[in-house]
Amino acid sequence: MDNQEHLMEKIATLCKHRGFIFQSGELYGGLAGIYDYGPLGSLLKNNIKNLWIKKFVEDRDDMFLIDAAIVMGEQPLTASGHVGGFSDPLVVDIKTGIEYRVDHLLESNGINPEGMTIEDMGQALKKHSVLSPEGNTLGDIREFNLMLKTQLGSSSDSSATAYLRPETAQGIFLNYKNIMDSMHPKIPFGVAQIGKAYRNEITPRNFIFRIREFEQMEIEYFIHPQVWEAQFEYWREEILEWCDMIGIDMSKLQEIEVNSTDRAHYSKRTIDFEFNFPFGQKELYGLAYRTDYDLVKHATYSKTNLRYVDPSNGETYIPHIIEPSMGLDRTILAVLASAYREDEVDGNTRSYLALHPQVAPYKIAVSPLVKNKEELVQKAREVFGMLKSQFGNVAWDDNGNIGKRYRRQDEIGTPFCVVVDYETLEDGMVSIRDRNTTEQERVGIHELADYVSNKLIV
Ligand code: ATP
Repeated sequence: MDNQEHLMEKIATLCKHRGFIFQSGELYGGLAGIYDYGPLGSLLKNNIKNLWIKKFVEDRDDMFLIDAAIVMGEQPLTASGHVGGFSDPLVVDIKTGIEYRVDHLLESNGINPEGMTIEDMGQALKKHSVLSPEGNTLGDIREFNLMLKTQLGSSSDSSATAYLRPETAQGIFLNYKNIMDSMHPKIPFGVAQIGKAYRNEITPRNFIFRIREFEQMEIEYFIHPQVWEAQFEYWREEILEWCDMIGIDMSKLQEIEVNSTDRAHYSKRTIDFEFNFPFGQKELYGLAYRTDYDLVKHATYSKTNLRYVDPSNGETYIPHIIEPSMGLDRTILAVLASAYREDEVDGNTRSYLALHPQVAPYKIAVSPLVKNKEELVQKAREVFGMLKSQFGNVAWDDNGNIGKRYRRQDEIGTPFCVVVDYETLEDGMVSIRDRNTTEQERVGIHELADYVSNKLIV
């Protein structure tokens, strides 16, 4: 195992032991590709979502936030092309019956599947005599639809077939007319959404990188077709700014222009933002120019007029769309991989998460030096209450000795630890320790909130 693989294992172990992320249904052996966020993971996730909403919705005047349903009927997903074509090519190991994604098999045999059609893939498997990972012969390639199907109401009613949405985007397209009719926006404007999406991935893997239930943060930005290039460029910059803002290591981020054979059927230009994860460089986000593909399809299938009338000159057209699409779980993984550090403190290896303070689950931890001295506990509770009212997520930590508390808070990425000791009772000063440098300072309780505020804005 090399260092990078070790890193992935360390992150996954930390996530489990420190209450960030658990395998779902672990008591019963776990569900492959499904994860639960624990107490700290939920705080981290919410911080990221709130920052996203602040940046892309609240700080602008041209963006609406919506929360569409997860369950979708068959008709809109037929119109969007998902029922017919949202599939991955599969091959079966003839001996074990286990199925594998053909592109993944090619990759692990050193063959780049980029730009290959299904036929090309079949030929490549034959030409290079590719076997299954167990060394067995493979069967023929078949297409496997990735959508999770379900049934609404009585199972005898075939019109009740429904799906868990494979992307949040469709909920935005389906509400385009409702938003136009209720909010009367002028183009350009955007609709943003954060929500769950489901894909029956054949080989879920790499912790929360490729999972079957995940969350997306997507924007559909409606534009006049003539300005798509400038808008595409603008959203490219916005994505980069966002990554930097939440503490993603920008030296590990690369933009990849996706060639026409690899682009989704609806896209005229796509850039993948790839991150150098511990298991290799893989897609973190996508930016696509979806043209008017989706609205034209929905207008045709639903027989509804979705044309926009420009109030300034009467021009009518179906708006075109630029789509920044960001996976929340992959964001969390990239943030964790960017923040994980090891150093040596007092002759021992210390691991810590150098999380950006804005995303850290707790901003500060407060402790009494010892937990069985009433005056110390009382004073520390006062400080805790004061900081909590200003900073929200503040941890109370009185378990074990101070050294252990520091290690624990370092590991979960808390930027500051405040300790109330005997001197505090005399001089009203507390010690405040910086997670990254481990250096401590004495600060007066009255100045503490300002001191932390100044440091948190980095
Ligand atoms: P991949 O090629 O890795 O399967 P994709 O190109 O199919 O991804 P999109 O359809 O562009 O992904 O989805 C937009 C974003 O949603 C991705 O950039 C990623 O962040 C996230 N995403 C997609 N599939 C998954 C998944 N199975 N698990 C976690 N996140 C996902």
